[in-house]
Amino acid sequence: MNPIARRALACVAVPAAALAAGCQHQPRVVIRDLPVDAIAEAAPRPAAARPTRTRPEERKPAPAPRRRKPRPRAVVPAAWLHQGVLPRPWRWIVIHHSATDRGSAEIFDRAHRARGWDELGYHFVIDNGNGGRDGKIEVGSRWTKQKWGAHCKTPDNAYNDYGIGVCVVGRYTDRLPSADQLGSLQKLVTYLSLKYDIAATAVIGHRDAPGTATECPGDALHAYIHKALRPRLAAVRRKAGQ
Ligand SMILES: [Zn+2]
Repeated sequence: MNPIARRALACVAVPAAALAAGCQHQPRVVIRDLPVDAIAEAAPRPAAARPTRTRPEERKPAPAPRRRKPRPRAVVPAAWLHQGVLPRPWRWIVIHHSATDRGSAEIFDRAHRARGWDELGYHFVIDNGNGGRDGKIEVGSRWTKQKWGAHCKTPDNAYNDYGIGVCVVGRYTDRLPSADQLGSLQKLVTYLSLKYDIAATAVIGHRDAPGTATECPGDALHAYIHKALRPRLAAVRRKAGQ
């Protein structure tokens, strides 16, 4: 197969009769090496002490329990970690919309293979409720292998070689993704930016890669990336000392 064709642009139409993605339990892990407030979840509250029976005359006021504010923990799905595989030297995060109403990692994987590509071209897919649960972050098979992407063709192919491809399912020319999708996008991009030291300015829409001729990721999502996502990420990175 022609390697150029194999890495070609990945904003594609998908078959309408594709299957919905299954809803599977995802094991989660605590990340200890990242000060990531933006992807933090509250630590579980300690279990309440079990009351003990005492006679009324033995009762005395119990000392106030020392309460420590639980530290937030950065918790991410284990599938994001590509355990046992060395990270690729990523330089960009490239955000796409699917330009379809429906989609999931499985649906796009099938569509991309039908085009003769090796597998799903993106590294992550964020579902919209039509093909997978709204806001669900799906991990593509090439992320697990830390393999180059097939989503952002440019003359030197640099954005495929070193760009993490994130596809937000939907068509975002004149409206934004759902709140759940935007929340997931923010969490994923923040994690990837801190973990792989990718600057906020290197978080781009597909059309921002020089040499591309596409409207992807749509005017509305493109504006969101530049006016909301990047400034928020820059603030998180400053706070984290990056
Ligand atoms: Zn695109």
